[in-house]
Amino acid sequence: MATEGSGNSDWLTRSRVALWHPCTQMKHLERVPPLPIARGEGAWLIDFDGRRYLDAISSWWVNLFGHCNPRINAALMDQLGRLEHVMLAGCTHAPVVELSERLAGLTGLGHAFYGSDGASATEIALKMSFQFWRNVGQPAKTGFVSLENGYHGETLGALSVTDVALFKDTYAPLLRPSHQVMSPDWRRAEDGESAEAYALRAAASLEDFLAECADTTAAVILEPLVQGAAGMAMYHPVYLASARESCDRHRVHLIADEIAVGFGRTGTLFACEQAGITPDFLCLSKGITGGYLPLSCVLTTDAVFAAFYDDATARGFLHSHSYTGNALACRAALAVLDLFEEDDVLASNQAKAARLTELLAPVAAHPRVRHFRHTGMIWAFDVAGAPPGFSGEFHRRALARGLFIRPIGGTVYFMPPYVIGEAEMCLMAEVTLQLLDTV
Ligand SMILES: *Cc1c(COP(=O)(O)O)cnc(C)c1O
Repeated sequence: MATEGSGNSDWLTRSRVALWHPCTQMKHLERVPPLPIARGEGAWLIDFDGRRYLDAISSWWVNLFGHCNPRINAALMDQLGRLEHVMLAGCTHAPVVELSERLAGLTGLGHAFYGSDGASATEIALKMSFQFWRNVGQPAKTGFVSLENGYHGETLGALSVTDVALFKDTYAPLLRPSHQVMSPDWRRAEDGESAEAYALRAAASLEDFLAECADTTAAVILEPLVQGAAGMAMYHPVYLASARESCDRHRVHLIADEIAVGFGRTGTLFACEQAGITPDFLCLSKGITGGYLPLSCVLTTDAVFAAFYDDATARGFLHSHSYTGNALACRAALAVLDLFEEDDVLASNQAKAARLTELLAPVAAHPRVRHFRHTGMIWAFDVAGAPPGFSGEFHRRALARGLFIRPIGGTVYFMPPYVIGEAEMCLMAEVTLQLLDTV
């Protein structure tokens, strides 16, 4: 049993021997050991030696209401006494039905299919879109289009529509080709060109592509408003409105990957709301359980559902994961939706966001900072002349000051849990300002 008395170094040694950490060159752990975490408490992570670190990136963007949230804990304790899991082929249960109904009410998409993590949601959406066209007699529509620098997960299908060279190049021979169109990321705008004008220019290039290739294209997949893994690239909502129009005009599905941006991250419950659009497929994960349990969901329309509804088994969507619709995970998700409703989270986040933006003003004005940007509960900036190894060095020095943060290349970003308070926001701003002068 883990006891705090065991101390950090013992866990570090054992971890290095027994584990293969994700997205990590294991040899680098000789220099930068992982952080051994004994406990979590609100926005804080606490190691085995009792040191505290502010979780400024919500444990890889999943945590919304802090670690060991008493209300989510209570819901899970109650669920543990009723049902932990039952297979969802041939069975159903209360939490998965209630969650599907509530998500339908919130999104206007009335059919929910569940997976266990983000990448599985991407796979589900791609396969459903492909099979829809096949079922309706348009089997040539097999292609997928995504944005430059887009990220949709790392299983083979998801990686095929991801455009991050570091994750993708090694596996290129295993992947199915997909097409990338210009990203609306406003950092790429010409001098004097507004974010909106740039987004419209990017939208025109998507329109051009679809005008030519719609006959062989099943769907466009994109991350609405913020391309997370690209380094928190942000763009104007007009792009989404225009992409929706192009998809409608050319009969191509729009898949909104809100795995990272859903559940309030961009200021609205779902990012698509800011463009007033409904996608054909909405992929959700990460924040869906408040960072408690792996769960993902693909929501879709009556029209898509109807194309699979038939006497013939093979026209159905014959896809499954063992833990599909796990009862504990669904119950955590229901507790998250309760929190949004009962605490008016979106309104209180607005006040917090305004305050953190104010505290970060000296950071935004720092001579090394470029493209300071902010959407909802996400902040990011690029560091001019970031030296090689900047990201690791910034991470290490921040940790020594009690801040857990992991820059993406030369981009520093914050994605704090919504329970962040004034003192914690001050710590983030102060440590970051100090580090900009030293790293
Ligand atoms: C994290 C992420 C995924 C993949 O989710 P996993 O749970 O890591 O498989 C897919 N799309 C986006 C936009 C993400 O941020």
